Amino acid sequence: MTSILAKIQALRAELREFNYQYYVLDNASISDYEFDMKLKDLELLEKDNPAFFDANSPTQRVGGEITKKFNTVTHKNRMYSLDNSYSLDDLLDWEKKIKKLLGTDDVAYTCELKFDGASINLTFEKGVLVSAVTRGDGFMGDNVTANIKTIKSIPLVLGDAFLSDFEIRGEIILPLERFHKMNEERIAAGEEPYRNPRNTASGSLKLQDSAAVSKRQLDCLLYHVVDENNTYKTHFETLKVARSKAFKVPQEITLCENIAAVYDFIQYWGAKRHELPYETDGVVIKVNDLHQQDELGFTAKAPRWAIAFKFQAEQVSTILHKITYQVGRTGAITPVANLAPVQLAGTTVKRASLHNADQIAKLDIRENDTVFVEKGGEIIPKIVGVDLEKRPTNSHPTVYSKTCPDCYTDLVRTEGDAKHYCPNTYGCPTQITGRIQHFISRKAMNIDGLGSESVALLFKEGLITNYADLYDLKVEEIIPLERMAEKSAQNMIAGIQASKQIPFEKVLFALGIRFVGETVAKKLAKHYKSIFNLMIASTDDLIEVDEIGERIAESVVEFSNDLGNIELINRLKICGLQLEIIVDEDAIVSELLAGKTFVVSGVFEIMSRNDLKKNIESHGGKVGSSISKKTRYVVAGKNMGPSKLEKASSLGIPIISEEEYMDLVGLKE
Ligand code: AMP
Ligand code: ZN
Repeated sequence: MTSILAKIQALRAELREFNYQYYVLDNASISDYEFDMKLKDLELLEKDNPAFFDANSPTQRVGGEITKKFNTVTHKNRMYSLDNSYSLDDLLDWEKKIKKLLGTDDVAYTCELKFDGASINLTFEKGVLVSAVTRGDGFMGDNVTANIKTIKSIPLVLGDAFLSDFEIRGEIILPLERFHKMNEERIAAGEEPYRNPRNTASGSLKLQDSAAVSKRQLDCLLYHVVDENNTYKTHFETLKVARSKAFKVPQEITLCENIAAVYDFIQYWGAKRHELPYETDGVVIKVNDLHQQDELGFTAKAPRWAIAFKFQAEQVSTILHKITYQVGRTGAITPVANLAPVQLAGTTVKRASLHNADQIAKLDIRENDTVFVEKGGEIIPKIVGVDLEKRPTNSHPTVYSKTCPDCYTDLVRTEGDAKHYCPNTYGCPTQITGRIQHFISRKAMNIDGLGSESVALLFKEGLITNYADLYDLKVEEIIPLERMAEKSAQNMIAGIQASKQIPFEKVLFALGIRFVGETVAKKLAKHYKSIFNLMIASTDDLIEVDEIGERIAESVVEFSNDLGNIELINRLKICGLQLEIIVDEDAIVSELLAGKTFVVSGVFEIMSRNDLKKNIESHGGKVGSSISKKTRYVVAGKNMGPSKLEKASSLGIPIISEEEYMDLVGLKE
């Protein structure tokens, strides 16, 4: 008859093996149900036989132990950090150094993914896990053993599998799927979602209640064995055996004979990393031979035998030193975060836009905060959040600037507008030069021989205060300026003169009316045909124009009502700029629809909607965006919106079909 102890031990061994199969090898050898039944059996036996209690029994995995204070302990072997590399050249330099130190070319490497989590050191004595300690400062870390024991892929007892006395290191991670699930639950419960898996993983290690840690379902990926006896000859072999016996060593580890193969690994995973179930921020390359590793040793900070290759980061954290403000050519104020320089997606980032006051308030961004910076689609990186755990105790909420950084005029903010503005449009130096710089830029007047710096210089010297002044400049005035050769002065004047041929739509864009970008300028130019027509248009009239909204309309009216602008436009007219559309006679088919405004709505069959609009214009008609009293016809295709239909019929505006339109302009045989 088997003794109770033997039975308990057999069950424990069996459940351990299942855990290993399931959590390390990802291999479900028995059903969850069977597993639960066996676990229950064991629980009962242990309960009835408290003498056989074992803290490392599989029944102890669910946690429950409370750690009031995490003891700080000294690492037996220091936990170093890693030197970084960012390019093939960096790797080749590293290789050269190593080969020189070793005095041989015979060096092989292992490549592993660099996991983004919290590093941990597990100490085993006589095949039993005795402690799990965080990296801390590398010399001392926190003892988080009770919490670590809840991670099912970490074996608590090895029996005679693998080594007996050793340390094994790895990264505590939160798999992405778990992370997203947790966040879904938090959002559903009305809580703030966690910012990233890395912080959540390291935060979880410091929870006092290990049962709560157990629920988080952390995982641990192991990558380094500290074995004073060098039982196995290479790093690769050590990890292979560790995996085959007990530990969750990631399978991606690859042996590489040279740096070319290392670089292949890097490129492969650089492209594929988003398919992994957890986050990785790079690759760690290690000298494979353990004897060579010992020979190379460590610098003050990192092993010489290993180097990290950082993938281009998409999100990093850094310190925000100061918030400053910038004023743009339209007077819009942009708050700027001045950061401790940090590598992000291959470039060094020192500044990031904070957008506006609301954004700062929403994220509660403050000076001296540690912030998360992300590279989105745009060129300018943005700040997506604050690491509140790192906020200094003496921190104060940000008070948004009240005055313009350039001319100290009080800022204004109109309701519904996210931005503050410097209202000193014609006196604020940055706005003045900014407007002229915009005026001469490539997509606007495209003036050759004149650049942004020259504009600033000409302004500083008092030669220009607006764009019309450019056309009065004389070569003799420019030559005396700093670093200005006669030839460049002549080129500048020639470039300015040539710009008089630039078509109206570009001139309109060049004027720098707020919200009037390239596309809007084109639309307005086409609709109004001349600056003079545009400048007498009312807001209501402007809104009628296809794709012109209230915001743009109001801005145009504001521009047109300003006496300074009226004078400027008159000067430009006298200088000979193109302030109206030169009518392309070929495009005009007839005057059949002159004075009539059409609204086009729905999906059409014979012509595309755009062609239909063009056709209306080619017959002298106008295309409006919304139905009003001024609308003469609504041309309706399929799926025209019911509200439009209603509006048209309530105003008594005829609704015609595509065919009827064709009839109208005589397109139909
Ligand atoms: P760093 O913190 O940038 O100096 O990088 C060193 C850290 O990288 C170590 O403390 C580990 O936590 C982590 N790391 C992640 N994956 C690996 C790996 N495969 N090998 C070694 N260190 C790794
Ligand atoms: Zn100003």
